[in-house]
Amino acid sequence: MHRFFTARENISGDQVVFPQGDGEHIHRVLRLRAGERVHVHDGEGTRFLVELTEVGRQGVRGVVLGREGHDTESPLRVHLGQALLKGQAMDGVIRRAVELGTASITPVTAVRCQVPEKAARGKAERWQDIARAAARQSGRSKIPPVHEAVSLAAYCEQHAGADLKLIFWEEEAATRLRDLKEAPASVALCIGPEGGFDAAEVAAARGSGFIPVSLGPRILRAETAPLVAIALVQSLWGDL
Ligand code: SAH
Repeated sequence: MHRFFTARENISGDQVVFPQGDGEHIHRVLRLRAGERVHVHDGEGTRFLVELTEVGRQGVRGVVLGREGHDTESPLRVHLGQALLKGQAMDGVIRRAVELGTASITPVTAVRCQVPEKAARGKAERWQDIARAAARQSGRSKIPPVHEAVSLAAYCEQHAGADLKLIFWEEEAATRLRDLKEAPASVALCIGPEGGFDAAEVAAARGSGFIPVSLGPRILRAETAPLVAIALVQSLWGDL
C-alpha cells in the first residue's frame, strides 16, 4: 500500500485532494488508477484509507473509506543536534535519522565545521523535504522537523529541558551509554563534525548539563556516529 502525507486542509469530509507533487507522483511515477487504494497520513497520528476517484493531469482526488489511529512514533523523544557536514553527508544523516525514529533534527555549527553557516541557510527547505520523504517511506506517523542551523551553545540551551543530554566525544569520554541507568523519555544528542568537537566546546556543553559519552575505542565517521548513537538510545530506552 502506497503511503502519503497530506495536510489536514486537503481532506474535507470524505474528499481528499492530493497536492500537486503527490498527484504527479501517483499519476506519472506510480501510475495508479481510479479505484486503487492508498494510505494517507495527516502527520498528526491519523491514517486514512483512501480510494482514488480521479487520476490525471488535471489532478488526483480520492474518497476516504476509513480512518484509524496510527502511531509509529517512538516513546523516546530523540533530538539530534548534528554538526554541519560536507557535501551530501548531511542529507544521508537526515534520511537515516528519520528512519530510526528521531523526533527532531537541528543542524549545529561547531568550531571545526568545514561548511560555512551560510551554506546551511539555503538548505533548510531541502532537508525538510528529505525528512518528509524518509518519513513517508519508513511509515512514520509524523514528519520530524529539521530546524534552522544554530550554534552548539544555542542548541544546548534549547534542549535544557531534555531528560538526558549527551555529547559524543571520541577523545576523553569515559562514560558509555549502558552506564547511564536512568530511563529517560527524551534525550538530546550532540554529534560533531568531521574534525570532531574541540575540548572547549565539550566543556561548554558539559556546563549546560550535557554528559560526554563514548561510542567505543574506534573513531566512527561523522556520518556513522549519529546513526549508531540513535540506534543505541532507541534500543536502550525507545522501541528498537
Ligand atoms: N576528530 C576525529 C573525528 C571525529 S568523528 C578524528 O580523529 O578525525 C565525528 C563525530 O562523531 C565526533 O565529533 C563525535 O561526536 C562522533 N564520534 C565518532 N567516533 C566516536 C567515538 N568513538 N566516541 C564518541 N563519539 C564519536
